[in-house]
Amino acid sequence: MLDERSHLGGNCHTTRDTDSGVMLHVYGPHIFHTDNKEVWDYVNHYGEMMPYVNRVKAISAGRVYTLPINLLTINQFFGKTFSPNEAKAFIAGMARKDITDPRNFEEQALSMLGDDIYRAFFYGYTRKQWGVEPTALPASILKRLPVRFNYDDNYFQHKYQGIPKLGYTAIIERILDAPKIELRLNARFEDIDASDYQHIFYTGQVDRYFNYRLGRLGYRTLDFEKFSADGDFQGTAVINYCDQDVPYTRITEHKHFAPWEADTFSKSVCYREFSKACGAEDIPYYPIRLVEEKKLLADYVSLANAQNNVTFLGRLGTYRYLDMDVTIAEAMKAADQTRQLLQSGQNIPAFFVDPLQ
Ligand code: UDP
Repeated sequence: MLDERSHLGGNCHTTRDTDSGVMLHVYGPHIFHTDNKEVWDYVNHYGEMMPYVNRVKAISAGRVYTLPINLLTINQFFGKTFSPNEAKAFIAGMARKDITDPRNFEEQALSMLGDDIYRAFFYGYTRKQWGVEPTALPASILKRLPVRFNYDDNYFQHKYQGIPKLGYTAIIERILDAPKIELRLNARFEDIDASDYQHIFYTGQVDRYFNYRLGRLGYRTLDFEKFSADGDFQGTAVINYCDQDVPYTRITEHKHFAPWEADTFSKSVCYREFSKACGAEDIPYYPIRLVEEKKLLADYVSLANAQNNVTFLGRLGTYRYLDMDVTIAEAMKAADQTRQLLQSGQNIPAFFVDPLQ
């Protein structure tokens, strides 16, 4: 197991802040949520998951709301006291009925919620997050978020949700603590001789594996402006800033991701999150997957399928906007199928899931 960084866990890495003692999600917050019991049991086997419900606040035009869009958001935004059915009828009246088959993010939002909510909560945030007009983005990005006509403000709809008591890195250390696994940190894939190995499972960027020979796949990266505060800075873990004239997308206050210990810290550590295009030296976070990138991806997939000693996995290896649970489920499936293929003497494919889907 090679990792070019000096620590395990990639962008899930957590470590305690030396000054305050707060557990930091070093590369931005990671909240574990899944409906997949097998994945949940797997993670819990390697570390205790503590109950955590993600309740996000949003600031738009100088007012605070709750996300995802729910009955409280709607009532506060429009200054109403709607019941669920009244709110449904009201929003249906706001929604753009002429958009029957939404082709992009903007059309999806307008057809569900109408112009006012779209402008207040989605347009500015999405422009900042993705750096393009929401008309250029796939509708699937918005489908990540629910709209609720009740007061449930749990950001995720999944059955299991939590954050590891000792952080993600501790879980990954335990997964790798096995006699047959040799771990090398600070080790770049480019510096080993791949022919020394029977097969490689590659979770770096698929275009990097091929030395970017066809060009670079586009990503967004995040810059974090870390700052400390005394006591409690914002009273919650995540506040989104939806307006375009605020340059950051959100502020996260890390001790609130660990409510079981938050009160024990007198100081607090926060990150202001800025999104930008990912340069050659930056850490890739979000695959963009617009039309041009998908074309390039198809060419890299062809190159990959022509290899016989490497399998590509994960968010970077398959260039998809995957959550942690899906990444783990796919890795488990890859491990099972690899075992079976090896037993029957067959080749291991470059992909277990088609990245172009
Ligand atoms: N989004 C938005 N306003 C918000 C939160 C999300 O417009 O306050 C949009 C934005 O385009 C974002 C997408 O919804 O990329 C998905 O949000 P999610 O919270 O899943 O993003 P993540 O936490 O993965 O960055």
